[in-house]
Amino acid sequence: MKKFHEILICVIGTTPQIITETIYALATKKDPVFLDEISILTTTLGKKKIEETLINRGILNNLIKDYNLPPLKLTDASFIVFSDQNGNLLDDIVTPEHNECVGDTITSYIKELSNDFSKRLHCSLAGGRKTMSFYLGMALQLFGRSWDELYHVLITPEFELNPEFFYKPPQNKIIESKMPDGSIRTLETKNAQIHLTQLPFIRFRDKIHLEGKSFRELIKEGQKSIDSNVMVLPLKLKLRERSICIGDSLVINNISPIQLVFYTLFLVKKKACGKRKCSPGCDECFITIKEEIPGNSEMVKEIFYYYKLIYPSRADELFDKYKEGFHSETIRSYISKINQKIKKELGNDSLSYHYIINTKRHYGNSKYGIYLDKSKITIMK
Ligand SMILES: [Zn+2]
Repeated sequence: MKKFHEILICVIGTTPQIITETIYALATKKDPVFLDEISILTTTLGKKKIEETLINRGILNNLIKDYNLPPLKLTDASFIVFSDQNGNLLDDIVTPEHNECVGDTITSYIKELSNDFSKRLHCSLAGGRKTMSFYLGMALQLFGRSWDELYHVLITPEFELNPEFFYKPPQNKIIESKMPDGSIRTLETKNAQIHLTQLPFIRFRDKIHLEGKSFRELIKEGQKSIDSNVMVLPLKLKLRERSICIGDSLVINNISPIQLVFYTLFLVKKKACGKRKCSPGCDECFITIKEEIPGNSEMVKEIFYYYKLIYPSRADELFDKYKEGFHSETIRSYISKINQKIKKELGNDSLSYHYIINTKRHYGNSKYGIYLDKSKITIMK
């Protein structure tokens, strides 16, 4: 049963033979891939060269016949020709602006294709300018699925840029090539080797937030998403030890029991958030602190409960002191103290931002809570 619509995507400059070499390499490898479609990202010059050789000289058809491959056609629809920011087609990629346009075209093309889950993308970065290869690899890194592949094709040097060599024919053929000094050298195709290298890559799809349009925007967004998520270490709160562990090596000790109680309240609230997509923007796990919090409120009950766990010998003293409840100023001062302690230990503001109790101002009201993802929070007695 056929599973995927197999599509070859090539970036091509002025060496059309990379297309046939890749088709050949895919069809003759151990687990052969027989393509259903080819898509070529190139310049006007590249397209002209491909049409002259692979189409008009019948080289693609010869390859299909020689190896009995399923039919494969190159039509106008197989080409994506790069253009500049004004829509003028490019015959070469020279300026930084051209490069930027090429990057955007490649990225948006791969993004679009990768939304079709019936297709498997076989991307070859062997052709074109180096930036084209880079963009193709990066686009696949951003949008590739587990089944998509990235390749480089390596050819025996004397055949590599030989304009008469397109793939290794089943029967040996003699080809002649003109050397730089003008002399003619004959080559036997049986000596040619074509190696397909499968290149591993990290798949960021669905791991980071990627909504941007241009390549530059996507990279900026991806970096932001990584900075704020992947590198954030998990937090472990140990109530009786009165410590907070961040990752494996950072431990914040000797936190005053009452400060720790308030920190615990916010962590518990975050962990209990019922919103399926609880993110840093989530409001549900943030708490509004009223001016006066009466002694019989849920919040005060929780405060007493955690205090007793943390510091049982002084619990009665605290109950006595706050039996009428808390004033918001008292709570705010504890929040500020625990935040200062965390910031002092973590140093880095963009890192500590995940662990401190943050404030969100909303129509004159302030809500307090933790940005750290709830999956990264563990509370231990
Ligand atoms: Zn939430």
